[in-house]
Parts: sequence; structure tokens; C-alpha cells
Amino acid sequence: MKLYNSATRTKEEFVPNHPDIVKMYTCGPTVYHFAHIGNLRSYIMEDVLEKYLRYAGYNVKRVMNITDVGHLTSDADEGEDKMLKGAKREHKTVMEIAKFYTDAFFSDCAKLNIKTPDVVEPATNCIDDYIRIISKLMDTGYAYFAGGNVYFDTSKLEKYYVFNDFNEEDLAVGVREGVEEDSNKRNKNDFVLWFTKSKFEDQALKWDSPWGVGYPGWHIECSGISMKHLGEDLDIHCGGIDNAFPHHTNEIAQSEAYLGHKWCNYWMHVLHLNTNSGKMSKSKGEFLTVSLLEEKGYDPLAYRLFCLQSHYRKSLVFSWENLDNAQVAYNKLITKVAALKPGDGEVDQEALAALRQKFTAALDNDLNSSLAVTALYDVLKAKTNDETKLAAIADFDRVLSLDLIAKGEKKREELKNQAVTAGQFTIVSESGESDPQVEALIQARQDAKKAKNFAEADRIRDELKAAGIELTDIPHGAKWKRI
Ligand code: AMP
Ligand code: ZN
Repeated sequence: MKLYNSATRTKEEFVPNHPDIVKMYTCGPTVYHFAHIGNLRSYIMEDVLEKYLRYAGYNVKRVMNITDVGHLTSDADEGEDKMLKGAKREHKTVMEIAKFYTDAFFSDCAKLNIKTPDVVEPATNCIDDYIRIISKLMDTGYAYFAGGNVYFDTSKLEKYYVFNDFNEEDLAVGVREGVEEDSNKRNKNDFVLWFTKSKFEDQALKWDSPWGVGYPGWHIECSGISMKHLGEDLDIHCGGIDNAFPHHTNEIAQSEAYLGHKWCNYWMHVLHLNTNSGKMSKSKGEFLTVSLLEEKGYDPLAYRLFCLQSHYRKSLVFSWENLDNAQVAYNKLITKVAALKPGDGEVDQEALAALRQKFTAALDNDLNSSLAVTALYDVLKAKTNDETKLAAIADFDRVLSLDLIAKGEKKREELKNQAVTAGQFTIVSESGESDPQVEALIQARQDAKKAKNFAEADRIRDELKAAGIELTDIPHGAKWKRI
């Protein structure tokens, strides 16, 4: 399996550090508001990665943090604490806000079939871990105390900018723009490990530390939580591309300075979901949530399909028209699965292996989910029996998680029941399309059969055949496809 590694800017063969386990860490949500569907694009793609690693036979331990303290409105240690901002907005305590939006996050994830990581750890649970790391950084000269805060000294590193996808000028913009420089910092990229500064006196959550009562910076939480649950090395670290700098850059700086060796081998960054006016973001105020999609009548899994149809390393533009297309495609997929007949023979193992080969080749190539979806369409078109197709779809859905088998079965049952209870004749197209002319002819053939006018029924079948339509009789109806 090849993965693009942002740290080396190349597609590399994935080789875990330990043969028996893949250690995977993903940056979790800051729980001061609902997750927007842009955030969820990142979580969907990370879910696909985790599930594909398991599909490929790896044992995976995946850890995710919940940021419930320390993330300021600017990623460069400036502005208000996001949690405090949420609490003020809703006249609630920080803990109430954290609980409410953590639950909301996992409920959204469940609707999108995103598996909950093996370990989910709120940042406020691990204060001792951060203090231990910061103390060692102070002892070894990588950190300094100034103006009431503890800072990481980036000038002590041989190399600070690790994600070379950006040039240094662009990276520094986040630190310079629109905010006054923190005069306590010795170097412009130094970042806070521990805050006690009076400016943040209204901070609700505070803990005692060797440097005074205060709270941790945002970056230290991911290093602390990762080491607590995954030890001193990490195989894959994931997050949205905006996390590459300064968040992940700072995570690497402090972790490697603390450990004295390389920390994480592969860095995976998901490109953004954009709207016509740019990146979808919580701070812009206007953003789309899973609940809003549901209110508008979309199935959250149609959004999952929308994300799967593009590669995670390309930014994706959201529009209602694009989502409509994904919903139509999703409905068609379910209709096609419903039209398959379970138990029409034995699974053809050779055919199944060939179908799987296309699927794994797509995902082995830097998680090309859009080609994996194409491999799913290939199954529906394949020249094999329906039992084999259903086996392949169930197999692929272990990774794609589109509920195709369950929803297909449900639809198949619904169609059967409708036909039986209404004594109705159901016309289904295998492609999911509808064509009033074709349907009218099929109905006319049925009426002729009912009236025992078999010559007319045969004539209509021939007429349809001449028009390139093949008919199959099914219980209480007929199925058609173009040939
Ligand atoms: P946050 O809750 O703001 O800490 O972000 C949670 C995750 O969503 C992080 O991995 C971000 O990098 C990612 N993210 C933020 N905005 C977007 C976006 N528009 N598209 C994709 N991922 C995003
Ligand atoms: Zn993080």
C-alpha cells in the first residue's frame, strides 16, 4: 500500500514500525460548536484509511483527542479561547459546552458511518502528561519561561519547517497577520506550551503547574495524548491540511525534542472542502452541518459518497447541485443493489477475486477512493451471477461504509411488499433510471397478458427488444435494462 507522506512530499510504501500493530493518531474536533461538513470530510477520509488498513489485514490502534481547552481563535496563540467563546455565546459553562458538542460530533459521525476511534481522549484528562513533557523541555533548554507563559524555543531545532508543501513565507503569514506579536516570544514561530498570563484570567479551566496556575497550549495536547496511548512512536498522523502548520509542525518540534528521536513516520493531510467563497470554516459563522443536510432531505451517506468520489489530496467544492448529483447516484446504487437476486447461485470465487483486485489496486494507490467507487460500479456491470456481485459489494462496503447491502435489501423488500399488497405490477429498471415510454409498453404487455392476448404480449416484447430493451419477469413485476 502506498501513501502520500506530507513530510517527505512523496508517495511511499507503507511499512508500519511494528508488524503486529499500526499506530494511528487523528486530530479531533474543538468542541465549541457543531462540526461542519468540511471538518467531516477529513473524518470521513480518515475513517476510510483506518478501515482500509484493517481490510488489508493490519491491526490498528487509533487514538483521537477532543479539544476542550487551550485552542485560541488564532492557531498562533492569539485571541480568545474557543471553548470560552462557545460558553459565552450560549450562556453555559465550558464543561456543558464540551459535553454537548462532543455528543453532537459523535452523533454526526454515526450518521456518516464514521467509526469511533479505539481511544477518544479529552484534552482536559491528560494535564499531568503535558506537565511531564513541558518539564523535560524546560530542563533540556527547549523551552523557556517569559511573561508568565512557557514557550517552545524553535531556534533550538535544526529544522522547524517540515511540511515543505508550503514555502516559509506562506507559513509565517498565519503568525504575522492581523495580530500583535507576542513580545515574550524570542522567535516569531515560538509557541506556548503552558499559559498563565493574566490576559487569560477569565479562563474557566485552570490547573496547578510548576509555572503557576494555568492551562496547556493547544499543540501540546496531541503530543501528550498520542504518547499516553501509543507510546514513543507513531505510524500515521492525520488531520485537515490547515493543521499542517502551525499545529502539526509544532507537535513534531515538541515531541522530537522531548523524545530525542523521530516520532511519526507518515503524515496524511486531507485537503479542504470549499464553497464558492473559499474554505468552509466555523469561525466564518455560516457553515453546513449534517442536521441541515437532513432537514433538506439528503441522506448523510449521500454526502459520504460525494466525498468518496474525489481524492483526499484534491480540494473539493461543495455546491447543492453537486450534492444533488451525489444523492441521485446514491439512490441509483441502492436501486441496482435491490434489483440483484440473492441466492441465484454460488459465489464465483475467481470472479470475486478479480473484482476485489480492482478495488484494492485503487486504495493501495494513496487511498484513491474515487477509483474504488468506480470498482463498485464495475461490480454491478460484471458478467457474473448476482450472488457474487452481492458478495463483492458487501466486501467493499467494509471500507466504503455506504450501507448498500442493508439499504438494497430494505428496498427489495419494500418493492415486494408493495406489489403483493396492492396486487400491483412493479416495473424496475436495473440502472435506476425511469423512462415513461418504456414503462408504458411494459404495462401494455402486462395488460395483454392479463387479457390472455399472448400474441400481443409477445409482439410488445419484440418491439422493446428491437428498441434495445431487455425484459425479465420478476415476481409481481418486470425488470428491464438497455442492451
Ligand atoms: P477543528 O474542530 O476546527 O479543530 O477541526 C477539526 C478537523 O477538521 C481538523 O482536522 C481540521 O484540519 C479539519 N478541517 C477544518 N476545516 C476544514 C475544511 N473546510 N475541509 C476539510 N477539513 C477541515
Ligand atoms: Zn492535533
